[in-house]
Amino acid sequence: MRLLTSWVASANDPQSPFPLNNLPYGVFSTADTDPRCGVAIGDMILDLQAAEEADMIKLDEGSIFDVPFWNEVMELGPEAWKKLRKQITAILKNASAHQGRAIDMLTPQSEATMHLPFLVSEYTDFYAGRHHATNVGTMFRGAENALPPNWLHIPIGYNGRASSVVVSGTDIRRPWGQLKAPDAAQPEFAPCRRFDFELELGAVVGLPSDGPITVQEADDLIFGYVLLNDWSARDIQAWEYQPLGPFQAKATATSISPWIVTKAALEPFRVDTPEREFELLDHLKDCGPMLYDISLEVGLLSKSGGKKIITETNYKEMYYSSAQQLAHHTTSGCPMNPGDLLGSGTISGAEPHQRGSMLELSWGGKEPIELDNGETRSFLEDDDQIVMSGAARSETLTIGFGTCVGRVLPALENPYER
Ligand code: MN
Repeated sequence: MRLLTSWVASANDPQSPFPLNNLPYGVFSTADTDPRCGVAIGDMILDLQAAEEADMIKLDEGSIFDVPFWNEVMELGPEAWKKLRKQITAILKNASAHQGRAIDMLTPQSEATMHLPFLVSEYTDFYAGRHHATNVGTMFRGAENALPPNWLHIPIGYNGRASSVVVSGTDIRRPWGQLKAPDAAQPEFAPCRRFDFELELGAVVGLPSDGPITVQEADDLIFGYVLLNDWSARDIQAWEYQPLGPFQAKATATSISPWIVTKAALEPFRVDTPEREFELLDHLKDCGPMLYDISLEVGLLSKSGGKKIITETNYKEMYYSSAQQLAHHTTSGCPMNPGDLLGSGTISGAEPHQRGSMLELSWGGKEPIELDNGETRSFLEDDDQIVMSGAARSETLTIGFGTCVGRVLPALENPYER
């Protein structure tokens, strides 16, 4: 793998998350500009609205960067995605003829506010990490019944709420809900006492499906990937989930990182899905490497300054790829659309430090984890901050996702006593 060099010097460090090889897509604003599409390069952002107005980007008849979201680009399809990447590379590469004008179209990332990069049309969350499903199943139903009988045959999911998806940096308010402690006689309405994160990757669907599609066709429809935190109220979930799955426990918020890392950037890091215990039915069969070697980390920062990297894992731990999840999603004829967001499911590895949620890390609260200042945590406390980061790495270059950050705010007063 060769690092492509740019006249933006900060992009040429093998450790930079945003070299010319990456070119992730986001939406940013500054004190002087409204939200607009941009691409990250080193520690800067190239303003694509300005680049299009200056005729340095030309994709179609008319403007596509006059709106602050990426859905219109997605709808143009893979040929246009390729063309855009080529044009941006031509602007930012070393010794580009565009450098003189493009230099004025750069904004330091430190001066930008990031926004949701696309209009989330719908949101589905899956449960496709085998270690996570085994851990949670063991805690909820015992080791004998940890994996439900369907788990090794289909990627299980539930329909989430697009309206709950927020961009990294948005504070998350601890929810109220109906819950029942295992030893309590009656349920109660109370603030969540077992608030949690889930480390996931989100696949962004770029094109509509037309009826049931194959795994290969599904992969072709995916535009890119983001980091995703599926905030989860475990005590609400444990009470409500049978028999139709999670509902209010997952409806408070889902955070995503602001940069969509494209499939093109991740291409060199494709890896196979794991060995399978049962052969999948034809329509879900693997047809090439569809996972990616992406290192993932979760940091917890407390109000009093405690901190710790609590999770170190990798996206290649998943049992089903996003392409398999998307193919499965269409089997019923369910229409999928540009801007559909698919959560991978919690990404846990086999080792304790690879677990992607507090529920697993503290084993249901029985084994609290310790921060570097001696504080302990079973679940998230008020003012705790969760920082997710991810990157695909080779010796020569990094394809970074940046971070997905969220802070837990204290619950409000009882919303019904007013
Ligand atoms: Mn989830």
